[in-house]
Amino acid sequence: MSAATASSDTRQEIARIFALQQKNAPAVGLSPIHDRIKKLKNFRAALNDPAWFNALAEAMHLDFRKHPVEAYASEVGTTTSYIDHICKNLYRWLSPHKEITPLPLLGITSYLQCEPKGQVLIISPWNYPVLLAFCPLVNAIAAGNTVVLKPSEMTAHTSAFIRAFLAGLFDEKEVAVVEGDAETATALLELPFHHIHFTGSPAVGKIIMAAAARNLTTITLELGGKSPAIVTPSADIALTAQKMAWAKHFNNGQTCIAPDYAVIHESVLDPFIQHYKKALTRYFNSDGKGIQQSDSLPRVINLKHFKRIHSLLEDALDKGAKVAVGGQSDEKDLYIEPAVILHVDESMNIMDEEIFGPLLPVVTYREVSEIPAIINRRPKPLALYIAGKKRKEIRYLLQHTTAGNTIINDYLLGFSNPHLPMGGVNNSGMGRSLGFAGFREFCNERSVMDRRFLSSGLKLVFPPYGKRANFVLRWLYRLINY
Ligand code: NAD
Repeated sequence: MSAATASSDTRQEIARIFALQQKNAPAVGLSPIHDRIKKLKNFRAALNDPAWFNALAEAMHLDFRKHPVEAYASEVGTTTSYIDHICKNLYRWLSPHKEITPLPLLGITSYLQCEPKGQVLIISPWNYPVLLAFCPLVNAIAAGNTVVLKPSEMTAHTSAFIRAFLAGLFDEKEVAVVEGDAETATALLELPFHHIHFTGSPAVGKIIMAAAARNLTTITLELGGKSPAIVTPSADIALTAQKMAWAKHFNNGQTCIAPDYAVIHESVLDPFIQHYKKALTRYFNSDGKGIQQSDSLPRVINLKHFKRIHSLLEDALDKGAKVAVGGQSDEKDLYIEPAVILHVDESMNIMDEEIFGPLLPVVTYREVSEIPAIINRRPKPLALYIAGKKRKEIRYLLQHTTAGNTIINDYLLGFSNPHLPMGGVNNSGMGRSLGFAGFREFCNERSVMDRRFLSSGLKLVFPPYGKRANFVLRWLYRLINY
């Protein structure tokens, strides 16, 4: 995982941009709210300009054959509605937030004031290359920061789009894009940014955290992991299978919150598989030409990931797993047929590593009380899904597991409610994206106590200490919670 060193040209360029932004950060931080909203509205308008959208759709098709409808749904639509959410709330978010002042502090007003952190670094992944770069970016801009954005090298066409798009909207002293791989990221991480927002794998997340520690930089880590999808017998099995097949194969399974593996009651396994198979045919083979010919299914991002996913399947089959649906592959086309895999166990890599591809291993259970042990032996997941109608069972599962986000009787909707923050727990991440919580990641929430009238009672406890100070202090501490 250690990265080679960036060239001296790259380092010089990064140092030049950092110095430019360092000089400009105080002015950006003082920019009025209406100016920030104007910038965000221009951003929104450009993103929805048909010329820019066509350029983006073409780039994403070149990178991994993403369908323009999926490109709109997962990248442009979500970012647009999130910008609207910020514009609607920014005056409120940036207003001083009044807090209670205890009685002994009579005469003081207490409040929290969001101020920009200053210079922000955003490192984003390839799987939703625009959404996961632009959502933190618009939060950082709204909060009044300068930003250096490093998109993923794996979606080279989309990263070039991001660079051109942002260069048309911002001066590099406010928002700059630095393209490059792990070496470039390593060079960026040496600089004393005030906040780093990283979206990617837990393995690289640890490198980011260690690098941030050197400068005591605050971090937001949006990571991944194995997100389970539980199906209880009271669920509508046909509908659950249809929704799960859509969620698992949206972006061809390359989604951080995709159901990674299913935990299904043994009594509903057969109907679930039949409905899942039917759903796959309806989504990707309605014309009978074969799933591989479908233009609604993106490809695996590259050969390295193709080999990784393929070896997860091979390892499981070697150790006794059985394919119930799909599983064919074509290396030259970076195609792996959506698959459901049964008879999996804990010795298999597929039950250990995040799959991030079109394979769905299924574990069965008999009693709901078995489920927490199946899930909790792995690191805490980013998402956990529960399908069922029995509220008592759902409550039990919520109480006996943990996850960054849980959706009951639906899938993947995490990014669709801007009021609810997204984020992981420990191995699946720390800090939050979206909503006020996501915006707050880019702010220092300064506590302010402002005495505007009455002189302070502090005089009563000044030295030399005697009986009076002792008596006053004891009463003050008793009164503080009234
Ligand atoms: P990755 O960790 O390999 O790369 C992410 C970014 O880190 C890229 O920009 C890459 O250039 C950079 N990077 C790679 N190696 C580095 C190093 N040694 N030092 C510094 N930077 C380095 O992740 P990925 O393959 O792009 O994305 C897939 C992962 O991201 C999955 O684990 C997925 O679950 C996770 N993810 C999480 C979320 C979320 O919101 N929590 C969203 C999308 C993806």
